[in-house]
Amino acid sequence: MSDDAEAEKRGSERWLRCAVSAEVNGRRVNEAIERGAMENGTAVFVCECGHLGCTTTISLSIADYEAVRTNFDRFLVAPGHEIDQVDQVVERHPDHIVVVKREGEAAAMAAAADERPH
Ligand SMILES: [Zn+2]
Repeated sequence: MSDDAEAEKRGSERWLRCAVSAEVNGRRVNEAIERGAMENGTAVFVCECGHLGCTTTISLSIADYEAVRTNFDRFLVAPGHEIDQVDQVVERHPDHIVVVKREGEAAAMAAAADERPH
């Protein structure tokens, strides 16, 4: 492998870690929002996509958000915000989509960061 190819590979691995940690940060914000919302109410969640600095919000009932969060590797993302290298779309709704982490490092990082009681 040439030096250039090696540098490119390192760069994309760094980018992937950045994207995953952005998604995990979004989840922490959304868990705080969920705790603050009324029972059976609607809350405004932030997009959990991997795009750094994404400030897109998604209005969703708590029940719908809970439906997204049936597994630690499912993330709430605005339509069109999925990242092919990281995310696999498993559900499409009018206002939001649900993605799961692809196998490997991204999924392992999502699992390690999941602090919700089960
Ligand atoms: Zn987004």
